Amino acid sequence: MIARKTPSEIERMRRAGRVVAETLRELAAAVRPGVTTAELNAIAEREIRARGAIPSFKGYRGFPGSICTSLNGEIVHGIPGRRRVRKGDLVKLDCGAIVDGFHGDAAVTIPAGDPGPEATALIDATRRALAAGIAEARPGRRLGDLGAAVQAVAESAGFSVVLEYVGHGIGRALHEEPPVPNHGVRGKGMRLEEGLVLAIEPMVNAGGAETRLLADGWTVVTADGSLSAHFEHTVAVTSEGPLILTDGG
Ligand code: MG
Ligand code: MG
Repeated sequence: MIARKTPSEIERMRRAGRVVAETLRELAAAVRPGVTTAELNAIAEREIRARGAIPSFKGYRGFPGSICTSLNGEIVHGIPGRRRVRKGDLVKLDCGAIVDGFHGDAAVTIPAGDPGPEATALIDATRRALAAGIAEARPGRRLGDLGAAVQAVAESAGFSVVLEYVGHGIGRALHEEPPVPNHGVRGKGMRLEEGLVLAIEPMVNAGGAETRLLADGWTVVTADGSLSAHFEHTVAVTSEGPLILTDGG
């Protein structure tokens, strides 16, 4: 079932989104060579709780962290731990927070110093793919339009979109209907309606699209070991167009 949100529910979701945006800003500032992913997790826990919110991911299906921290060829769902970030690493930070019963969910890719030309191009393409997807989040467009827009940006830059992991509806639950793929065919798929709130989250690999799940049961990596980037926003479909709830505004 698809839960459409009222304008007042979307306002409440914006408060959750603001907590996520502010927490990600603090985390991005803390990314540097030598920091451990557990230290980043502690910052997230502190920043989310300081705002009266609850980390969405903590305990979600048993996930041990308050955020996901995924490095380099790890795509998503990396578990924070003792590992230290090294110079040039790509650090993907995925953060969710609950305020007043509603979730916000967003992710960024932050390089620890200069990651080199390929990684810089990958980050840029993934950010642009997210923007292209968000631009399609309007009443009357279809999920296929959104996925096709994301995919076109990533592939025209020479990269691959991950197929097995997708965005999602979001609201009182972290993951709601519908799934929001990062690939698609224009004119196909569910028609978007006012009040739908979507977590749009392109995962883009420098190499092939194939993924592998590590033995920890969480961490998803590129099958070929290539770099991966991830950006995500929680976006409401409104009559005035896409409303980004996790941009801090
Ligand atoms: Mg997320
Ligand atoms: Mg998400």
